[in-house]
Amino acid sequence: MKITPLIGLEVHVELETKSKMFCGCPADHFGKAPNTQTCPVCLGLPGALPVPNKKAVESCLKIGLALNCSINRLSKFDRKQYFYPDLAKGYQISQYDQPFCSEGFLNLDSGKKIGIERVHQEEDTGKLQHTVLNGKKITLVDFNRSGVPLVEIVSKPDMASSAEAKEYLKKIHEIIRTIGVSSADMEKGQMRLEPTINVCIENEGGIHYTPLVEIKNINSFNFAVQAIEFEIKRQVEEYENTGTEKSLTNKTTRGYDSVKKVTFLQRTKEEAKDYRYFPEPDIPPFIIEDDFVEKIRKELPLLPDQEISSLEKLGVEKKDAKVLVSTQNRLAIQIIHDYSRDDRVDPRKLASLIVNGKLDPSKDTKAQYDSLTKVGITDKSVLTAIVQKIIDTNPNVVAEYKKGKTNVVGFFIGQAMKETKGTASPLILSELVTKLLNS
Ligand code: ZN
Ligand code: MN
Repeated sequence: MKITPLIGLEVHVELETKSKMFCGCPADHFGKAPNTQTCPVCLGLPGALPVPNKKAVESCLKIGLALNCSINRLSKFDRKQYFYPDLAKGYQISQYDQPFCSEGFLNLDSGKKIGIERVHQEEDTGKLQHTVLNGKKITLVDFNRSGVPLVEIVSKPDMASSAEAKEYLKKIHEIIRTIGVSSADMEKGQMRLEPTINVCIENEGGIHYTPLVEIKNINSFNFAVQAIEFEIKRQVEEYENTGTEKSLTNKTTRGYDSVKKVTFLQRTKEEAKDYRYFPEPDIPPFIIEDDFVEKIRKELPLLPDQEISSLEKLGVEKKDAKVLVSTQNRLAIQIIHDYSRDDRVDPRKLASLIVNGKLDPSKDTKAQYDSLTKVGITDKSVLTAIVQKIIDTNPNVVAEYKKGKTNVVGFFIGQAMKETKGTASPLILSELVTKLLNS
C-alpha cells in the first residue's frame, strides 16, 4: 500500500491599512474597546454603501505579484451569503470567479513548485465572545474587526507532507512581512491557516482517494503540522475501516483541538452553490490597467528567496543567508553587500560572525571584523606566507640585503608587523625573515 497525502492551504491575511476595506473606520482593531470602530457600512445597516480601499487593493496585487500570479485585467467583488451572528450583513463581500490574482506559484527549497490557484480580496467578520454574565451563558459580539481588509491565498493541493506545508507557510509569512502589507502576527490572528487534506491510497485494488477535509482557523505553524499529521493517519484508518472514498458531496470541515491534539468534525462542508454567490451590485467591476500593475511591481522590494540568493552569490553560506533574511536583519544584509567590495573582507566569514552573534553590525563593523579575524601569532605557516609575500614584492630591498646591508631585516619585520596588525611576535618574525632571505 502506498500513501500520498494531498495538501492544499488557504491562508487568510489581515492587511495593515489605515482604514477598513469598504468604509473609513480604523482597520487596527487589536485591543480596542468593543464596538468603538464601527459605522453604518461595517455594521451592515440597510442603505449603507461600500467604497473599496485602494491601498488594500494594491496590497492584494502586491501579494499576487510576489507569488508569481497573473493579475486579471477584469475583476469584481461578489457577495458570499451565509448566516453567522458576527456577519451583520448576512453576506461577506469577497471575490468569486474573477479574483484580482490567479495562477501563481511558490518554490520550495527542494525546487518543488507549489501552485497558487488564486489570491483574492475580501473583508473580515466581527468577533464573538462567549462568556457568562449573572450566571447565564451568553455570547457578545464585537464589530471592530468587521470589514477589516483580508487577502485569501489559495494554493493547489500540491504539498505531500506536513513538512512541505510548513515550509510553504513560512515562506508565505516571510513574503507578506517583507513586502510590508501586514505583520502577519499569528498570535493576533493576522494570519490564519486552513489546510485541506486528503490521501491517495494505492493498493492491489487500484487508486483510491479519501474524502476531502478542511481544517478551520489554525493559528500556528506547529498546530498546522500536528493537525495535518493527525488527519493523514485518521483518514487512512477511516479508509481501512469503511472504504469510503472521496465524492462530490462528502467534503467535511473539522476543527483542531491543540490540547488533545486531535481534529474533530464540525460540519459537512458548504459547496460554492450553497453560498449563492452573485456580483456585488454596489461596487462596479474593476479594470486593472497594465501601467498600474507595473507601478505596483516596481514598488516590490527584493523577495526573501531573491535576497538569499544575492547573499549566496557573494559567498555567504545558505544557512546563514536564510537566518539573516528570515530575521529581516536589513542592516547586516546591507553591510555584507557593502563590504563585499573590499578585498580584505570575506563575506562568508562576516555573515557567519554576525549570525553567531560575535559581530554586532550596528557598531564599527570593520574594526570588529579585523580584530576577530586577525592572524594568530602562533600560526607559523600563515606568518611564513606573509613574510614570503613581502620578500617577493620587494626585490630591490632583497638585492640590498644580498649586497650585505643586513639592517634591512628591520624593514621586512616592520612590514610583517603592519600586515598582521601587530599581533605577531617580532622574535618569530625576525627568525622567519632571516631564514627566508637566506633560502
Ligand atoms: Zn465602518
Ligand atoms: Mn475567505
